[in-house]
Amino acid sequence: METKVTFRNTQAKTSILLALSEAKCALSHAQLNEKLQGICDRVTIYRVLDRLISEKKVHRIADIDGSIKYASCHQCNHPKTELHTHVHFSCQKCKMLICLDQIEPKVVLPDGFEIKETNFTISGFCNQCNV
Ligand SMILES: [Zn+2]
Ligand SMILES: [Zn+2]
Repeated sequence: METKVTFRNTQAKTSILLALSEAKCALSHAQLNEKLQGICDRVTIYRVLDRLISEKKVHRIADIDGSIKYASCHQCNHPKTELHTHVHFSCQKCKMLICLDQIEPKVVLPDGFEIKETNFTISGFCNQCNV
């Protein structure tokens, strides 16, 4: 019984990571759920995502409308312990939320402040829609 549960969790983790790395853009929980086509339930997806985030394999992004999306970290070239400081681009037309890994604003905080999380999301038209 225990082995079965572990197997299912491993499978869910692999599938979620694969779905996110294959996607060109960040996915919401609902989009991820759709892509997985019932491989695992909603609760499992949340749990696995939390695990992947703490393992620095996935990062969580707040879209311009406040909705939460997830992206894999395969393009981020940050060391495993570092924060995700790159910019995200939210397209008003196709609604894609894209990681702009090369763009990292440099933030210098006053003494005594410490960054735990950053959230830079730019809204506009992406290069596919801006024609
Ligand atoms: Zn677009
Ligand atoms: Zn990103």
